Amino acid sequence: MKKIKVLVNEDKCYLCGGCAGVCPALAIRVSSSWQFFEDKCISCMICIKACPVGALSYEEVAQ
Ligand code: SF4
Ligand code: SF4
Repeated sequence: MKKIKVLVNEDKCYLCGGCAGVCPALAIRVSSSWQFFEDKCISCMICIKACPVGALSYEEVAQ
């Protein structure tokens, strides 16, 4: 499976925490800002599909 880096569009994200809630790897933390922990991410894409406003996208990274 390809390895990805999840990217947030800060203009769309309203910090609802939904993506952090569905991430099985605890690779996203949402408080006063959106944070991504690439070393934890298992590239499942669940967060990207879960965001209600389409604020998340991704880029592939070298393994
Ligand atoms: S791709 Fe999967 S593991 Fe990575 S941040 Fe999103 S939900 Fe978490
Ligand atoms: S689900 Fe979308 S809007 Fe909510 S915190 Fe995550 S990126 Fe932001």
